[in-house]
Amino acid sequence: MKTPKEVLALLSAQPRQTLGFYPTPLQKLERISAETHVELYAKREDFSGMTLFGGNKIRKLEYLMGDAKAKGCDVVVTYGATQSNHAMQTATAARKCGLTPVLFLVAIVEPKPADLRANLLLDTILGAELHILTQLPGESMDDTLDRCRPQIDAVLDGLRQSGRKVYDLPSGGTTPVGMLGYVHAYAELTEQLHALGREADYLFVSTGTGGTLAGLIAGKALIGSSPDLVGVQVSPKVTEAYAEEILALSNQTLRHLGQPETAERSLFRLENGYYHPGYEIPSPKANDDIRYLARTEGLFTDPVYSGKGFHAMMEHIRRGLVPPNSTVVFIHTGGATALFSEAEIVGDLTEK
Ligand SMILES: *Cc1c(COP(=O)(O)O)cnc(C)c1O
Repeated sequence: MKTPKEVLALLSAQPRQTLGFYPTPLQKLERISAETHVELYAKREDFSGMTLFGGNKIRKLEYLMGDAKAKGCDVVVTYGATQSNHAMQTATAARKCGLTPVLFLVAIVEPKPADLRANLLLDTILGAELHILTQLPGESMDDTLDRCRPQIDAVLDGLRQSGRKVYDLPSGGTTPVGMLGYVHAYAELTEQLHALGREADYLFVSTGTGGTLAGLIAGKALIGSSPDLVGVQVSPKVTEAYAEEILALSNQTLRHLGQPETAERSLFRLENGYYHPGYEIPSPKANDDIRYLARTEGLFTDPVYSGKGFHAMMEHIRRGLVPPNSTVVFIHTGGATALFSEAEIVGDLTEK
């Protein structure tokens, strides 16, 4: 087992481009702690920088942009929904590094060109090259990307033929290089807790492509600490297959660091009861907790990711699944730009 410092030293040998402001704060949520009799902290990954609209993707992008620059790339291509946080944050990182951002965005919610919202508006301000892909009925985002593969390949071939060197980044920035960011976050958080004389009993994080969770699992495998690490699904993936996928990602990350592949299924849990009705479809109960967090602590979460993750954590606390006096950390992954997106994504946050 390694100390957090040893893990950070191991990571310091990897190419990395400074983008955000780290370490992110670890903030006690005093009022909710007093109300619920747990010691609740928020790890403020929403506060990462590099813009006001940062979030968990910036940590991944520090390693990814380091890699892209080391490889001499001058274009970054990535994928997501039209309101993807990852795509927008990738475009900011690409601009800061002088690379051209090219985004393939699946219109889960059809954008209105005359009334661009939230991340899609930011992508436009950033001048990212946008390719909006129409989603056919019944398709998942991956299905749409698969069907559009010839169109995507044609754009990539065109770029390469004109002499550009392309860094092709999968959705979520979920590659072994990107996941190093969350090994880093795990070591950083462990140090912050130690400075407070604490160990976490529970960590809650929203999980989409699984890269953030996989990086945290790799960190936990290296450091050997024992919080109950709970990933809250934000989309309807088959849980056991998804868990295997995350485990494989986690071990790929360890291998990339030259470490033994010691990630195991017992190092994390997945909660699949909180994404309903679906990805980018708001949950009225999660929206209740978005309002609760705002009205208790003055903090914003979003209806797609962090609000559902926060709601899942609160339900665990309310139902006594988290025992009193436990130290609980909510990893706040960001995403609040979604509050300014299309009504289909936001749902009703005005009621009550
Ligand atoms: C992308 C994202 C997540 C999920 O991260 P993955 O690494 O894709 O699992 C969680 N919260 C927010 C706000 C995100 O943008």
